[in-house]
Amino acid sequence: MALLQVAEAQQLVLQHSHRLPAETAILSPAVLGRTLAEGIASDIDSPPFDKSMVDGYAVRSEDVAEGIGTFRIVQGILAGQMPARPVGWGEVASIMTGAPLPVGADAVVMHEHTRFNSDQMSLMHPVRARQNIMARASEMKQGETVLTSGTLLRPQELGLLATVGRTSIAVYRTPRVAILSTGDEIVEPGQPLGSSQIRNSNAGMLMALVTRAKAVPSYLGIAHDTLESIRPLIATGLKADVLLITGGVSAGKVDLVPDVLAEAGVMPIFHKVALKPGKPLYFGTLGNTLVFGLPGNPVSGLVGFELFVRPALRKLLGRSQPFVSMTIKAKCGSEFSHKSDRPTYYPAKLNLTADGWEAHAVGWKGSGDLRSICASNGFAVLPPGEVRYSAGDLMDVLLTEFDPWS
Ligand code: AMP
Ligand code: MG
Repeated sequence: MALLQVAEAQQLVLQHSHRLPAETAILSPAVLGRTLAEGIASDIDSPPFDKSMVDGYAVRSEDVAEGIGTFRIVQGILAGQMPARPVGWGEVASIMTGAPLPVGADAVVMHEHTRFNSDQMSLMHPVRARQNIMARASEMKQGETVLTSGTLLRPQELGLLATVGRTSIAVYRTPRVAILSTGDEIVEPGQPLGSSQIRNSNAGMLMALVTRAKAVPSYLGIAHDTLESIRPLIATGLKADVLLITGGVSAGKVDLVPDVLAEAGVMPIFHKVALKPGKPLYFGTLGNTLVFGLPGNPVSGLVGFELFVRPALRKLLGRSQPFVSMTIKAKCGSEFSHKSDRPTYYPAKLNLTADGWEAHAVGWKGSGDLRSICASNGFAVLPPGEVRYSAGDLMDVLLTEFDPWS
C-alpha cells in the first residue's frame, strides 16, 4: 500500500479536529492569540464628532476663497472639551488634536502653516474644505460589526475591542494538551544519568511548542516500555483535548503505544506518513480527543508537531485558516544535494535579504540531532529522489519560527 502523503494526513487530522466550545474571557493581554467566538458590534460612532487630526486652527474654508488672509482667534478648544461657540465670518478657533470641530468651521489648518499672535492668525498655505478632519462615524457607525467571529486576537484587535467598550469577550476555549514520554532509556534532566540512558529532550520541547501554539500543556512524565506503566498514563492523558506521546510508536519490540491506545478504545486514523524524518507517526481519536504518537527522536517529533499538531491546535482554537500552508519560496543560498525515498524536511537557516528569503541547509546528522535544529529556523522541503540545488534555485521552505496566520 502506498504511504500516506503529508497533505493527505493533514486532511485527515483536519477532518477529526473540531473547535472547542466558547467561554467568556476578561479583555487583557492574556487573550492574545486566542480566537473570537462572537461578532463584535460597535456601541458608538467613532469618532463621536468631527475631530481635528492636528494641532492648529479651525477655519471656514469659504473665507479663504474670499481672499481674507487674517482672522480673529475667538476661542481655544482642547481635546476633551466641547467648543464654547460657533466660528463666524472672519473668525477662527485654536484647536488641538482630538478636539471636536466647532460649528461653522469646516477645515483645520496646521499650526505650522500659519502665522499668529495672541488674537490673530494669518494663513501661509491654501486651504481645502474638510482638510485635517476625521468625520464623525468615519471609522465605524454605532451598531456596525467591527470584528467577526473567528478573528484572531492580536494587539490591534485588543485596541479595537477597547474602543467599542468591551471588557469581556467570548473566545474559544484553550486546548489542554497532555504530554507523555516513553522509553526505558529516558531520564529527566536533573536525575542521575546511567551509561545506557539519555535525557528527556522531548517533554520540555513539546511543552514549549504547545505553549507557543497558545495551548496549555500538562506533563504526565515518562512511561517505561511496559503495558503496566503505559496504561494508566494513557488513561489520564485521554482526558485532555489532545494527547501527545513520544516514542514507542514504531515497529520495535517494545513499541507498545499503539496497542495500549487500541485497548483504551482509541480509533487509529493513520500510523505512517511519507515523510523524513518522522515516518512512524500515529494519529487516532477517542471521542473529541486527538491522539498523536510522535516518533521518539526529537527532530522527528518537532517536524511532526509543526506539520500535524500545530494546525490541529489552530483548528481547536477556532482559527479560520488552520491548515493554510506555511511554506514559502526561498532562494537557495549555497549548493546543496540530498537523496531520499521520501519527501524530506531538511533543517535550514533562512535569512531575509533585500531580494527576499535565502535558505542555507545546515549540517545535519539525522533525526536525533537537535543541536543542528538550534542553528536552523525552518525546514527545506525536498521532494523524494535525488535532488541538487545550486545557489539561486528556488526551494520550498516550511517556516517554524512564526505563525503567518497568527
Ligand atoms: P522510539 O520512537 O521509542 O523508538 O525512539 C526513537 C529514538 O528516540 C531512540 O533513540 C530513543 O532513545 C529516542 N527518544 C525517545 N524518547 C526520547 C525523548 N523523550 N527524548 C530524547 N530522545 C528520545
Ligand atoms: Mg522507545
